[in-house]
Amino acid sequence: MSLIVQKFGGTSVGSTDRIKNVAKRVAHYRREGHRIVVVVSAMSGETNRLLGLAKELSASPDPRELDVIAATGEQVTIGLLAIALKEMGIPAKSYTGGQVRVLTDSAYTKARILEIDEAAMRKDLDAGTVVVVAGFQGVDRDGSITTLGRGGSDTTAVALAAALKADECQIYTDVDGVYTTDPRIVPEARRLDTITFEEMLELASQGSKVLQIRSVEFAGKYLVKLRVLSSFEDPESSGPGTLITYEEDDSMEQAIISGIAFNRDEARILVMGVEDRPGIAYAILGPIAAANIDVDMIVQNIGASGQTDISFTVHRNEYRKAMDTLQRERGTSFNCREIKGDDRIAKVSVVGIGMRSHTGLAAKMFKALADEGINIQMISTSEIKIAVVIDEKYLELAVRVLHKAFELEKAPA
Ligand code: ADP
Ligand code: ASP
Ligand code: MG
Repeated sequence: MSLIVQKFGGTSVGSTDRIKNVAKRVAHYRREGHRIVVVVSAMSGETNRLLGLAKELSASPDPRELDVIAATGEQVTIGLLAIALKEMGIPAKSYTGGQVRVLTDSAYTKARILEIDEAAMRKDLDAGTVVVVAGFQGVDRDGSITTLGRGGSDTTAVALAAALKADECQIYTDVDGVYTTDPRIVPEARRLDTITFEEMLELASQGSKVLQIRSVEFAGKYLVKLRVLSSFEDPESSGPGTLITYEEDDSMEQAIISGIAFNRDEARILVMGVEDRPGIAYAILGPIAAANIDVDMIVQNIGASGQTDISFTVHRNEYRKAMDTLQRERGTSFNCREIKGDDRIAKVSVVGIGMRSHTGLAAKMFKALADEGINIQMISTSEIKIAVVIDEKYLELAVRVLHKAFELEKAPA
């Protein structure tokens, strides 16, 4: 008898009919003898609706109150699912994040899980009860409600699976696995049977929202068996989805490039004409870090005459805050000629562990973009990734031409 954590995303619980379907799937697995913890998201569109209400009242709402509001979305779904299960004769009990005690830090709207108390859940499971937990939320040491960042229910699921030492964590969504890229943008995208943990981590960090990055980090840290599947298939005959693997399997053909991720959530800030001296990057980026703003790409160009330009990207939500921070620090921490910004950029990343052993991939990427007249504004690379920043209006075109250039629609020979 195994213990399985099953997570259902927004579309999978988007209506009471869909919730009934989830209950049927849970019932199916329970009949097979498994102990089940279910993690659910808010019904699709609900989190946006709730956050939108706050925005109607304030341009910059208090993050603590935003979490109070956003967490209600998931709370509705756990109640509904527990009712649907009971209606089918299955004992079920709902838990908010605070009731489980998913303890987090106090970084409202992007809190990190510190600790999970699994005792109560274990007791229910031992008694044959299906445990239904609200994803995306926790509670800090003061008892304030926190949320884990958009897409955070994935992280709740994997963290619970780690805490409970579950045999598998299944992420049910509206696609039947992880694809070579978002199938909504490239219909020819191909489902992958397996993907290495490192590649999944890189894809998620570059914007593939099929799994939230922190869920993949958690899975890697605790070696949680993690699988992405469709909630829209019949549980009796559903496909295998995509399994995240932790060891490279030499017997399998490994594609050089596994996937393409993209991200519209970033903004670029350019600080021009700063003095080229030791400590200047710190003078500019230190205040950004102190304001708790995450920086992604950083590029520094040394110009003539002892001056340099520093550009970096931040999350679009934090663009204004970052610009304001720099304007405030200008003239004290650093001097510069100009600060410019652009929040209509996008990042496209090509990911594959085959990059370690193959050369010429960056050139191939740049040529494919150049052939379409797409200008590259920034480049960054890691051992298994090449990422470029481009004008947002070329994003979909870029993803399509790169998918074709790397022949990702074809299975590796
Ligand atoms: P959920 O509400 O179930 O958490 P999300 O919308 O967060 O679902 O994530 C699923 C979506 O992720 C898919 O509908 C798809 O459009 C998108 N997606 C982006 N990149 C990929 C990818 N490489 N493979 C599969 N889906 C992807
Ligand atoms: N409901 C939250 C969101 O929309 C969390 C999640 O769906 O994972 O971001
Ligand atoms: Mg999601």
